[in-house]
Amino acid sequence: MSKTLVTGASGFIAQQLILDLLEQGHEVRGTVRSAAKRDALKQALAAHSDRARDLELVEADLERDEGWAEAVDGVDAIHHLASPFPLAVPKNPDDLIRPARDGALRVLRAAKAAGVSRVVLTSSGAAIAYGVRGAMPERFTEADWTDTTHAADCRPYIASKTIAERAAWDFVADEGQGIELTAINPVAVFGPIRSAEVKTSVDIIARMLDGRLPMLPNAGIQVVDVRDVSAAHIAAMNDPAAIGERYIVADAFRTMRAVADVLHAAYPERTKIPRRGMPDFLVRALALVNGEVKAIASELHKQRILSSEKVQKLLGRDLIAADDAIRASAETLIEHGAV
Ligand code: NDP
Repeated sequence: MSKTLVTGASGFIAQQLILDLLEQGHEVRGTVRSAAKRDALKQALAAHSDRARDLELVEADLERDEGWAEAVDGVDAIHHLASPFPLAVPKNPDDLIRPARDGALRVLRAAKAAGVSRVVLTSSGAAIAYGVRGAMPERFTEADWTDTTHAADCRPYIASKTIAERAAWDFVADEGQGIELTAINPVAVFGPIRSAEVKTSVDIIARMLDGRLPMLPNAGIQVVDVRDVSAAHIAAMNDPAAIGERYIVADAFRTMRAVADVLHAAYPERTKIPRRGMPDFLVRALALVNGEVKAIASELHKQRILSSEKVQKLLGRDLIAADDAIRASAETLIEHGAV
């Protein structure tokens, strides 16, 4: 059993990973960017595992040097998850790119200085399947990279994930000898939330459940369960064959209508779940004034399919089905009183 560091401990995926690592007997240290989050996080995780008591939390911000040396001190492996993940498209792309890229480099430099070799980075399908010029390929694999120079198909968040992952591999090649890096590239992550504060990707399901999303744009996403993202992180950490590799973690593609249909079937009494489609012209018009709709507008009628063949071999099993992930998000959002 080892001591592992999880950066961005307050995040949706990090909470699942921390619980899984603790349950498997690892010692876990997490980073938070403000001490104010410590107690609430420990309390939220304690509701799921007695071992959450043993979680150590330290402070470190992606945009500052302080704290990272202490965070990596004495750990055997690092899972780097922290990265800004806003739902809206920001006015200045650098607000996302700078912390994502510089933060990844801060973690890697601290790892090298402390002699910690194993680093598993949560990158994203965003670093693989965007910036596409012309027709969408039938299937993306780990060999593909997003073209950040084609801004029409590459929002700032997508650029931030691509640039951060590239910077990490470049660091390892140029000056990070001894660092054993693996990238995990999930698509849209659903599945159970572990505390009511979780927002990010599951927020789209919350909005469908409570009526904040009244109509369904003609867009969709490939879905994966947070439990599989966590499992991929741990399997990669444990398998030397994963060093130097990228792993897409992705189950089926679901249109927003298909997501709503899963929710209708599970919660027929919830009448606010949308049924009507949102015309494309309305999505495009709203996108001019609303950063969140802008993110959806750039996906209208697009279908990106990423292959998860490689991660299934790593895990030795199929992934959790997309519709089960959607139902688990809805069930736990309701349980936590988040909708
Ligand atoms: P969350 O927003 O829940 O988690 C992001 C974490 O990063 C939070 O703990 C947040 O801290 C932390 N963070 C953000 N900015 C900073 C900063 N400047 N300094 C320190 N910490 C910071 O998102 P997810 O759990 O969904 O995402 C985790 C990782 O997975 C991210 O790298 C994301 O890009 C990636 N990913 C997520 C997908 C998804 O669909 N959810 C899909 C593919 C990849 P705080 O709580 O203080 O804001």
